[in-house]
Amino acid sequence: MTDVILRTINLTKRYKSRLAVDHLNIEVREGEIFGFLGPNGAGKSTTIRMILNLIFPTEGDVEIFGASLKVAGHRALENVGAVVEKPAFYGHLSALRNMEILGGLQKPVTRTRIMKYLERVGLADRAGDPVKTYSHGMNQRLGLALILLKEPQLIILDEPTTGLDPQGMKEVRELILELSREGGVTVLLSSHLLYEVEMIATQMAIIHHGRLRVGGSVHDLLKQGPSEVLIKTDRPAEAVKFLRTNESYMSAAIHGDGIKVALDQDRIPELNRHLVNAGFNVNSLVPQRTLETYFLNLIEGHEA
Ligand code: ADP
Ligand code: MG
Repeated sequence: MTDVILRTINLTKRYKSRLAVDHLNIEVREGEIFGFLGPNGAGKSTTIRMILNLIFPTEGDVEIFGASLKVAGHRALENVGAVVEKPAFYGHLSALRNMEILGGLQKPVTRTRIMKYLERVGLADRAGDPVKTYSHGMNQRLGLALILLKEPQLIILDEPTTGLDPQGMKEVRELILELSREGGVTVLLSSHLLYEVEMIATQMAIIHHGRLRVGGSVHDLLKQGPSEVLIKTDRPAEAVKFLRTNESYMSAAIHGDGIKVALDQDRIPELNRHLVNAGFNVNSLVPQRTLETYFLNLIEGHEA
């Protein structure tokens, strides 16, 4: 089993009577892309701020690379790079100059290294342009380039794609995937958008009102619970009749030019066999359950 490199232990933040984060326990393992999900106000940013030692927990602790944040403070964050807000740059200066100034705060940094990371995030050809001419997506990527200078082992991003247009979102998503695959970095990213996490994360945790509602592998979570399957076959009306003779498939009904059946996802192969053995041509079987419905159900408390 791979190492846990980040762990929150009963992490709690109380603002007056409001529990923004309530005894949260999550674990991020090396190499994962960990999706930290929840609707607005769920407590994601508060959790991330505590992890980054920007605010202090009311109760609990964070363990990073085996070190207690309470004990080690900022030293525990040496191998961590984070973008928590819209990164602030000097607008009238170029990306290169911004990287020199902001990246050189701790120790001097060479232009070669800066260019390597600007290249990495796809900004090399714009390195000389004033940052105020950058789009929001380019700003986000420059923010990433800046933290990459640190060569962090763990990257923490608070809603990295919020406010971006679809193209910008895609670029940031792809960049995160590349960093994870090629650079071997572990990524914790928060989002209020399920489909985003669904696309790139390997693990996820959903929080609501500061409390962990569900956690696990994205793959396993998607398989869980009841779902629907959309079937495309050559003779849909006959296939519906046939399916309804089996009490497992009583919900079968025509849907558009296909058939919908309520069914657990792990029983899809069995359904396929039934149809094929009865002489139907099955062109496709598409699970209809998305993480989105799962997420909504959870938050509404139907499935907790
Ligand atoms: P998210 O990032 O998931 O949208 P936040 O962590 O920003 O959620 O907020 C969680 C809850 O804590 C919200 O109810 C928010 O209003 C509250 N909160 C956050 N920061 C503060 C603060 N500085 N003072 C009081 N309440 C706060
Ligand atoms: Mg937030």
